[in-house]
Amino acid sequence: MKTVWFVYIGNNSYRDVVFYAYTDVNKYLAENNIPIRLIFHHPRVRAGENAENMPEKDIILESKPGFTITINTGKGKVVAYPLEGILDVLYGWLVKTRHEVQEIYEMHQIEPDDEIPDTVIGVVSFPLVTRNPYLDFYEKFLGIQKKVSGLNIIAVSVSPFYHPNKLKFSNRIFKAILHELGHAFGLDHCSENCVMNPPSTIEEWDSRVPDFCPKCFLELKRNVEWKENKRDNTSLQRGEEDRESSSKDA
Ligand SMILES: [Zn+2]
Ligand SMILES: [Zn+2]
Repeated sequence: MKTVWFVYIGNNSYRDVVFYAYTDVNKYLAENNIPIRLIFHHPRVRAGENAENMPEKDIILESKPGFTITINTGKGKVVAYPLEGILDVLYGWLVKTRHEVQEIYEMHQIEPDDEIPDTVIGVVSFPLVTRNPYLDFYEKFLGIQKKVSGLNIIAVSVSPFYHPNKLKFSNRIFKAILHELGHAFGLDHCSENCVMNPPSTIEEWDSRVPDFCPKCFLELKRNVEWKENKRDNTSLQRGEEDRESSSKDA
């Protein structure tokens, strides 16, 4: 089984909708015999001046001057976070958490069935934009992925998917998570009625089936099983997979 960490960073008002989408994704994976599971992780960090005496809190994004970006949209000004900053926060969290889990395993001499996750999906409540002036990211719907030394960092903003109907809102997020999982396991974009077909409008996204097309589905299954077998056969050669840092618009 491949496990993928799933963290939510943002305000409480979207938390339940994100959690529904997360639950639906795991249900979908189980029902379709895809050996991947998301693990909801409450990212806890201590923050503040008297950090040791402070209660643990959710990940807090530093609001240093210049960290947020204000953009003008058709609907007025929107405060957004640079996705490069979010990817850095998630990368730091993934490295630290993998290390902590490893230490716990060693301390208690645990031999887990599943490898420690090398992938994190970070779902954020606020809009993400890029500082790269050549990418008009705010207009795009889906997330962004970055690979650093074999670790896979994925950030998705729920803000473009907002709908006052919670079911509709969570269905849009469900498809976006499947889309990003598809990329994490090697799928490219597709032109069928499929979650791997990126939309140009939100209406288009609503019209997509909440599923992979048969071709993408088979490819996903093959890729996950291949990863699992590779782990069993060549667990000593893991360094080989390391790549230069690369990110792609997803
Ligand atoms: Zn497809
Ligand atoms: Zn994509």
